[in-house]
Amino acid sequence: MATIPHWLNGYAVHTEATRQLPVHNPATGQVIHHVNLADSDLVNQAVQMAKKAFPDWSATPAIKRARIFFKYKALLDKNIDVLARLVSEEHGKLLDDARGSVLRGIEVVELACGAPQLLKGWFSENVATDVDCTTLRQALGVCVGITPFNFPAMIPLWMFPLALVCGNTFVLKPSEKTPSCPLKLVELLYEAGLPEGVLNLIQGDKVAVEALITHPDVAAISFVGSSTVAESIHKTGIAHGKRVQAFGGAKNHAVVMPDANLDQAAEAIAGAAFGSAGERCMALSIAVVVGQKTADQFVAKLTTRSQRVTLGAQDEKNADMGPLISHEHLKKVTHYLDIGLSEGANLLVDGRLVTHSNPLNQQGYYLGACLFDHVNAHMRIYQEEIFGPVLGIVRVNNFQEALDLVNSHPYGNGTAIFTRDGDTARTYASQVHVGMVGINVPIPVPAPFHAFGGWKKSIFADIAMHGTESIQFFTRLKTITTRWPAHGVRDNQAFNMKSSADISPMTAEEFP
Ligand code: NAD
Repeated sequence: MATIPHWLNGYAVHTEATRQLPVHNPATGQVIHHVNLADSDLVNQAVQMAKKAFPDWSATPAIKRARIFFKYKALLDKNIDVLARLVSEEHGKLLDDARGSVLRGIEVVELACGAPQLLKGWFSENVATDVDCTTLRQALGVCVGITPFNFPAMIPLWMFPLALVCGNTFVLKPSEKTPSCPLKLVELLYEAGLPEGVLNLIQGDKVAVEALITHPDVAAISFVGSSTVAESIHKTGIAHGKRVQAFGGAKNHAVVMPDANLDQAAEAIAGAAFGSAGERCMALSIAVVVGQKTADQFVAKLTTRSQRVTLGAQDEKNADMGPLISHEHLKKVTHYLDIGLSEGANLLVDGRLVTHSNPLNQQGYYLGACLFDHVNAHMRIYQEEIFGPVLGIVRVNNFQEALDLVNSHPYGNGTAIFTRDGDTARTYASQVHVGMVGINVPIPVPAPFHAFGGWKKSIFADIAMHGTESIQFFTRLKTITTRWPAHGVRDNQAFNMKSSADISPMTAEEFP
């Protein structure tokens, strides 16, 4: 059985591993290959290669770096089906869904192609007599990306293309559960012409992560994963003097107002809750319905829709969602169903009763759509991220109650409101304490030229991802103040503090 390699200095590297993990196809439960887990020596080798490549790469004109990404974008387009299949085989999401996630990553590569424009600095002429000021962006050095299992193409593509076009070199540590697609992404970038050592990939688990976030030659860390790990990576990385952005988990609410189109809202919320088996950080897991009459009507529609959700593998026709990532995760999610029942919530649709019809998939990690009614704010199924196809309904009496509920939740990644009223929508968007808001849009993942990032426990950083925020994160500013010895000098000016407008010009004598 094959072992998935690391990628160092431009080549795939197989090592004698002391530690190894099986990689499963979640749709069948079969082990499809193994992945070697890097130790701290291998991590050090990857960082040293990135460090060695940094001087030449950061000195390469931005437009030349960007040209590699134009070729990369063409290669990604050509290989999209291969990439989607790798995502689907190891993650379990359906092929169309996997293809969509690769496309979302490619959009960030398109953004990276515009690096020369994004990296433009500022120039002020004559800030004092004959003195000019330039502010420019420079690369940080070796940057690190640590990514979760659920988007093995999209999230790495959110990180390394923008880091690299800014002139940094990079070490990627993808999830050990979905290692193949990130490897293919790296291979394709070398095919596009990336110089050796600029991007390296380490397969591994928390041992590799620990070595990366404390390594003295690492300048910055971009992390996406669960909140507990995000918080600890942020703390350790900062303590070791690194720039860190760490994106965590979520519990995303949809608010359904009485004036909403309830058929559309039910369809949209079911898709956002159960698509990809709920394993999306922007999945909707709580629907807050305003008014008892609306709630009764909405719950009836949502129950019917949830009962119709079908399970499938890869490109099976008419399937709505695939399996969960692992047997362990399946057990965790089904345990939450027991918790919800013991807390008094009403399980209207029980996904445990749904099985995959194909005998080949009977060992797959499948769970059908699950719908709880009468969830309240004190329940664990409300407070905690489940990360599976489990949607809870909370009934409230008015808009303010809905807003207060969302605002008091510890997570703040995404949210959506369903209404036809502009005032309500605008007030919600303005007052909700959540980073990404959809108005009649269930999964408001921003376009790549807008900021992606949650609030509260969903982020441990000041700078979001995507667009100009990523350029900000992966560069630091330098301001250069310049004067040339064209004119005479005033007396006694060299010893006192001056406002910029008073900075005196130098005499020719000072520059013999
Ligand atoms: P995870 O936190 O278990 O793992 C993420 C990465 O951290 C992996 O590369 C893993 O190897 C590493 N890791 C795991 N445990 C570690 C530890 N103790 N110390 C150091 N490193 C460790 O997350 P996951 O299960 O792969 O992904 C699902 C989570 O990611 C969910 O909570 C989901 O909401 C979140 N997520 C967030 C976003 C976002 O943009 N906010 C996007 C996708 C996923």
